[in-house]
Amino acid sequence: MNHKIAVIPGDGIGPEIVAEAQKVLDAAGKKYGFEMEYTKVLLGGASIDVHGKPITDEAIETARSSEAVLMGSIGGDAATSPWYKLEPSLRPEAGLLAIRKALNLFANLRPAYLYEELKAACPLRDDIIGSGFDMMIMRELTGGLYFGERKTVVEDGVRKAVDTLTYDEKEIRRIAVRAFDIARKRRHLVTSVDKANVLDSSRLWRAVVEEVAKDYPDVALNHMLVDNCAMQLVKDPGQFDVILTENMFGDILSDEASMVTGSIGMLSSASLNETKFGLYEPSHGSAPDIAGKGIANPIATILSAAMMLRYSLDLDEAADAVENAVKKVLGEGYRTTDIMSEGCTQVGTQK
Ligand code: ATP
Ligand code: MG
Repeated sequence: MNHKIAVIPGDGIGPEIVAEAQKVLDAAGKKYGFEMEYTKVLLGGASIDVHGKPITDEAIETARSSEAVLMGSIGGDAATSPWYKLEPSLRPEAGLLAIRKALNLFANLRPAYLYEELKAACPLRDDIIGSGFDMMIMRELTGGLYFGERKTVVEDGVRKAVDTLTYDEKEIRRIAVRAFDIARKRRHLVTSVDKANVLDSSRLWRAVVEEVAKDYPDVALNHMLVDNCAMQLVKDPGQFDVILTENMFGDILSDEASMVTGSIGMLSSASLNETKFGLYEPSHGSAPDIAGKGIANPIATILSAAMMLRYSLDLDEAADAVENAVKKVLGEGYRTTDIMSEGCTQVGTQK
């Protein structure tokens, strides 16, 4: 079976790490009987250099007609790169925002997984880590406080600023459905995080999530207030499977969770819409400081490719194999410089 994948190598270390992920996908394909048909798409700085703008209609159409997008990283060093002398709407990151909007990618998925072999980098105590943790944070990405009405006024000589947090039930339902679908492929538990003791938007969130849960009797649901969740992430991270939450809460909690793993360079991410389509990319940036040196850690991108196999292509067995291969490589002591520790074998060629 052939799968149509759009590949955005991107900027900085992007092309290097995407090339490694493609090798892994091809190897998995040989073993599990599928083939990837890659179409290269320019986005961000790479597109500015060729087309004078960070995204083209053609790039969006190629992505739209693919089953998924595998992306490296976008952007450069804002202090030195000429891309950042352009007006904001022409800078690399504008290309990323445009593709998210064009493809309606409203759900952002970020795993936080603790590798036994990298436990030393985890800032939590051993008794808290326990048998490890493996959670998936699903953050709503196109609504809520970041997209509400905002204004600043002066009333009776006093400055006043207003931001509104709005969700309608359709927006909540579509992301809740995605979260329950994902939980079915994991450990069948959704923790929905809100502030329902204070906010109306959270009370609606909770009610709609409860309604969706009725269609998933095999998935357990619990609710947690966001302040408690922030605490539980460092007190007992092992309790979580899928965390479902709105835009701002998810922004804060997913950063907290990634720090708790201690190895940001290992973390993948995905942005999904209502279909099986997804855009898969590492959580980290384009690392212009090490680009072209042959020392970038490709694991976050390889794990993003595994997520693509699982969530967009339903190739769960191949996804498991890729994730296990990453564990095996770490277990055998191979490390890039960013995760290097004593007694391990350094890989990557310093060019
Ligand atoms: P963003 O572009 O998302 O704002 P950032 O500028 O905050 O990201 P990164 O580009 O992720 O940061 O880089 C932060 C640091 O981590 C840099 O020193 C970079 O070299 C290092 N780094 C990031 N990704 C990797 C990787 N895959 N392998 C090795 N080092 C990395
Ligand atoms: Mg950066």
